[in-house]
Amino acid sequence: MENIAVGTYFPDAISFKHALRSIAIKENFRVRIKASDKTRVIATCAYQGCKWRIRASLCEDDQSFEVRRLEGDHTCPGTNRAGNRLATSTWVANEIQDIVKRNPDIHPKEINNNLEKEYGLSLPYMKLWRSREHARENIFGCIDDNYKWVSTLQAELISRNPGSHITYTYDVRDNSFQRFYVSFKVCSDGFKYGCRPLISLDACHLKSKHLGMLLSVISLDGNNGLFPIGFVVVENESKQTWLWFLHNFGETIGTEVEPLAFISDMEKGLGEAIREVYPGAEHRICIRHLWKNIKKKFHCKDGHKLQGLVWEVANGYTCTEYNTKLFELSVLNQTIHAYLISLPYKWSRS
Ligand SMILES: [Zn+2]
Repeated sequence: MENIAVGTYFPDAISFKHALRSIAIKENFRVRIKASDKTRVIATCAYQGCKWRIRASLCEDDQSFEVRRLEGDHTCPGTNRAGNRLATSTWVANEIQDIVKRNPDIHPKEINNNLEKEYGLSLPYMKLWRSREHARENIFGCIDDNYKWVSTLQAELISRNPGSHITYTYDVRDNSFQRFYVSFKVCSDGFKYGCRPLISLDACHLKSKHLGMLLSVISLDGNNGLFPIGFVVVENESKQTWLWFLHNFGETIGTEVEPLAFISDMEKGLGEAIREVYPGAEHRICIRHLWKNIKKKFHCKDGHKLQGLVWEVANGYTCTEYNTKLFELSVLNQTIHAYLISLPYKWSRS
């Protein structure tokens, strides 16, 4: 925070008022703007009888303001918690602009820690959250406006990553954004030349203002490291969106890749989409996702003997191993055994 003294310059009236507010919050008094026009800003302490008074005037450049007068010491007792009222989300947004720029996902709690250290403020969570949104908007522009840049983004990404497959769709009725597909050439080449023909598909929810889903295709490289090949932003997870994704993915790496295996959760439309685009490929269910479903459905606990056994059934390399473990499972828990063998998906190694 800047110190305010006679002779201090501010780029404009707004930044002078921001600094006034900061000093009022820090020194625990309420500031009252007495006059504010094109040529001057005059403020006093809001406490009746307190003589503190400041005046800044427009400089010759017709833009910046200089503090010309600063009179009187505070004789006010200090307004209790005045800071919380003075610290509007506009003020907070301005104050935290730099830290939000460095870390746009900074947690509201961390913002609070910063403000507490600097100003002794403790603000409600929602105010901090709104201020962070506000600061992001100041720095990166309004989310809604950014959708105007989709076609520019696509062109720019392709020009900087030649050979990449990047495309999007929009609603022809009102030109609104629908979906965006990205697969960089380095990633699709990396998959073709350096990965096992195993592809995992998964989805997660997006948490920005307009929500939607992120679907991704990921492979495993020679070191068993995750190797992303492509991703899309779509409106929701459905057979339609998976189909669109896989059709594009097919254009990226070809649909004739053989052998090829997919692994995913049991999302219904996804299995159908895979069969439609890659009829010759294997599709199996990820045991981690499957166990999560079982846990929820049958109220099982983690680390249970049951979990170990389910994983052993799934991981067995031979049919004998599979059958032995499956039998053990049927003895331990008939319901889950029945559920597993009734599934229309393959979820085991053997
Ligand atoms: Zn005062």
